[in-house]
Amino acid sequence: MRWHHFSWLLICIPLGCSQAQSPAENDTGDSIQWEEKLSPEAYRVLRQCGTEPPFTGKYWDHHEMGIYLCAGCGTPLFNSETKYDSGSGWPSFFDVLNTSNITTKSDYQRGVVRTELLCNSCGGHLGHVFNDGPEPHGLRYCINSVSLQFEASEHPKESAAPKH
Ligand SMILES: [Zn+2]
Repeated sequence: MRWHHFSWLLICIPLGCSQAQSPAENDTGDSIQWEEKLSPEAYRVLRQCGTEPPFTGKYWDHHEMGIYLCAGCGTPLFNSETKYDSGSGWPSFFDVLNTSNITTKSDYQRGVVRTELLCNSCGGHLGHVFNDGPEPHGLRYCINSVSLQFEASEHPKESAAPKH
């Protein structure tokens, strides 16, 4: 009865990364209507594990000083000081602001195991982390612009501190 084995194989084919999360899965008390809260593109990436085309997002070539927040819930994720030009066409960072703000998960899309990055607060899909980044950690956090919301530093380095 090898048919049983065969059908199990079909069932066990990995289904890609953590898409189609129900609001209850990341329940914070209120059930969030993500389709109303987010733009269609942000919804596709953050809530359905999509990927924006390279060199199209608003932050891949963005060099202001500040903090990058989760576009879904405002959790601080990356500091501009760890952003670098990877040439990939997506915003790339070599470190995270706070490891407890980001969850990692194995992603089996396209038959290759990758490490998916999710916002730890709202479960939004951010991008992936790869092992071809610069020293000292050798990591490249490859993030979709549409998953991020930039907040500029209040006090640019070159301006003198006001005296009162
Ligand atoms: Zn979030």
